[in-house]
Amino acid sequence: MIINKNMDLTLLSGLKIGGSAEIVYYPEDKREMIELIAEFGADAVIIGGGTNTVFSSGAHTKPFIMTTALNEIRSSGNSLYLQAGVLAAQAVDTARRSGLKGMECLWGIPGTMGGAIRGNASIGSDSLFSHLKELSLISLEGCEYQMEEFTPRYRDSGIKDVIFSAEFELENWSESASAAVIEELKAIRAAQPKGVSCGSVFKNPEGKTAGYLIDKAGFKGRSWGGLTVSKEHANWFIRTGDAVFEDFENGVSEIRNEVLALFDIELELEIKVYYA
Ligand SMILES: Cc1cc2nc3c(=O)[nH]c(=O)nc-3n(C[C@H](O)[C@H](O)[C@H](O)COP(=O)(O)OP(=O)(O)OC[C@H]3O[C@@H](n4cnc5c(N)ncnc54)[C@H](O)[C@@H]3O)c2cc1C
Repeated sequence: MIINKNMDLTLLSGLKIGGSAEIVYYPEDKREMIELIAEFGADAVIIGGGTNTVFSSGAHTKPFIMTTALNEIRSSGNSLYLQAGVLAAQAVDTARRSGLKGMECLWGIPGTMGGAIRGNASIGSDSLFSHLKELSLISLEGCEYQMEEFTPRYRDSGIKDVIFSAEFELENWSESASAAVIEELKAIRAAQPKGVSCGSVFKNPEGKTAGYLIDKAGFKGRSWGGLTVSKEHANWFIRTGDAVFEDFENGVSEIRNEVLALFDIELELEIKVYYA
């Protein structure tokens, strides 16, 4: 297993924001993952691609576990087995090349399968969980177990344990049906902001979009240090300079306060934040 010491956390964060991690482990198989979780339990910081994550400044002493070396893919008939560190893009591509439907809801989403499942990530209306047959999980005590019933909500799988692998049961579809859906998703992506980001900053509250509320509160184009609210989509922060954690915190709290004052709505972060 590779172990990195004193790692620069800006390398792991979608917005390139963070201090340093004292130690980062890269387990390569189930035994190594179980041993790490059994040793560190709830103290372990599990990171996939880090695309939805920012870290506070300073030295993080909790052990980091990165899943990116857990990247086995097995495909047989309509079944697709993916370890947690497989990139969402690889999963989409494997399904597409096998003529299978069900992974395209991750089209264009950066990061890993573990992060996508944990946060119930998707583009468009379909959900990964419609095609998920079984998850292999590791409890925070280091015990492996399987899960076959899921109760995901918007951007929240409800899963608190560590995802090791997932097995999907996908459907067959024609090349033309697949191409048509991909064209629709490409159009959604093309309309999204460009630049270094973590994607959406806040979850959409019930019945509204966070982008609409932030726009109405007048934040489009507003900057805090090296972070700017995208002019195309007000729920995205774009890194436009040497952004640091304090810029992120200032932006988040100012937007939250203003949206609360104007609309009486409390915005919840979609981005995950880890403190040293
Ligand atoms: C340009 C851009 C576009 C995006 N578009 C979308 C979009 O359209 N839809 C969308 O939903 N999201 C989108 N995102 C957000 C992000 O890419 C997704 O949420 C992605 O699924 C996160 O995966 P990750 O591996 O990077 O997760 P990370 O950032 O590494 O982790 C996110 C959370 O998942 C947990 N986690 C990671 N792996 C595991 C595991 N194996 N077991 C348990 N917990 C784990 C982490 O502890 C953390 O709490 C976008 C981001 C960017 C930068």
